[in-house]
Amino acid sequence: MYPGRFRYVSPRSIDEAIAVLTEAEGEGKVLAGGQSLIPLLKLRFASPGVLVDINNLPDLDYIRREDDGSFRIGALTRHATMERSASIARHQPTAAAAAPLVADPIVRNRGTLVGSVCHADPQGDWAAVMIAAGGSVVAQGPEGRRTIPVRDFVTGPFQNVLAYDEVAVEAVIPAPKGTVVGGFLKLERRVGDFATAGAAVTLELSGGKVSRAGIALTGVGAATIDAEDAANALLNRPLGAETIDRAATLAAEIANPKSDHRGSADYKRHVVHTFVRRILAGLTEQTERAA
Ligand SMILES: Cc1cc2nc3c(=O)[nH]c(=O)nc-3n(C[C@H](O)[C@H](O)[C@H](O)COP(=O)(O)OP(=O)(O)OC[C@H]3O[C@@H](n4cnc5c(N)ncnc54)[C@H](O)[C@@H]3O)c2cc1C
Repeated sequence: MYPGRFRYVSPRSIDEAIAVLTEAEGEGKVLAGGQSLIPLLKLRFASPGVLVDINNLPDLDYIRREDDGSFRIGALTRHATMERSASIARHQPTAAAAAPLVADPIVRNRGTLVGSVCHADPQGDWAAVMIAAGGSVVAQGPEGRRTIPVRDFVTGPFQNVLAYDEVAVEAVIPAPKGTVVGGFLKLERRVGDFATAGAAVTLELSGGKVSRAGIALTGVGAATIDAEDAANALLNRPLGAETIDRAATLAAEIANPKSDHRGSADYKRHVVHTFVRRILAGLTEQTERAA
């Protein structure tokens, strides 16, 4: 199918992008990598009056590690750039584990991390990674910038808190206070597919104990799930078999999957339990080393 008619604008600055969105009064849509929006336009699930293509704002293409150890990832940073980043590989293990599992190489060359978080697909990978890492989205609108934790940014399936006149300009992964360890596992029917079930875990370690924990799930609910209780079960403890099993059980309990062509709800819940346990078990040695 062909998309409906829309006006196409390619702004030269973020301010111009915001001005066009403001003028469009809710009929505008930002186009980043187009890997979700273009199919939606073709299916006419989205019919914006104005398409605001931010691809001519190359200043938004960056992965910056700040002096305090936090990361800033611009709105035009492609999945492939995340995958190739030595700095991400070195300092953000959850993102490094997830990047090669997002879609396929063609999609990864165009799609963006920020676009993925904005799209808020319940089966998307990046929102889970960002929630586990305690990350945020920085939105810019006519009134200036605001920073929104991803756990509050995604409000439901394909829904986020952005106002119609705001552009998400970057994602932020906060500075860790201790040693960062983490992992991401995703079950897919074939390479490049969305998650049947997936889990992202990021821990910060101090003195052999978990000083901060984030666990988030994808593919097993109507939106990305922040498995906060599971993460809290790890706090101020070393990673032992009992703690790990408790966290995995709590994560499986909060998962709310539906039975579909990818598998039964029970099966997906079981996968969540296995993945969280497996990721955490794989991190025990590093926890001991950080002691
Ligand atoms: C074949 C295929 C397989 C895929 N498999 C996976 C997968 O396994 N895992 C996965 O996570 N994803 C997968 N995807 C989705 C892909 O990762 C998309 O790239 C991603 O969801 C959206 O990023 P984008 O930059 O392409 O955004 P776009 O498609 O350009 O936009 C998506 C939505 O976000 C909004 N948006 C984008 N950027 C901004 C911004 N800066 N400010 C405000 N709003 C913005 C748009 O207006 C639109 O509503 C797949 C896609 C395809 C086509």
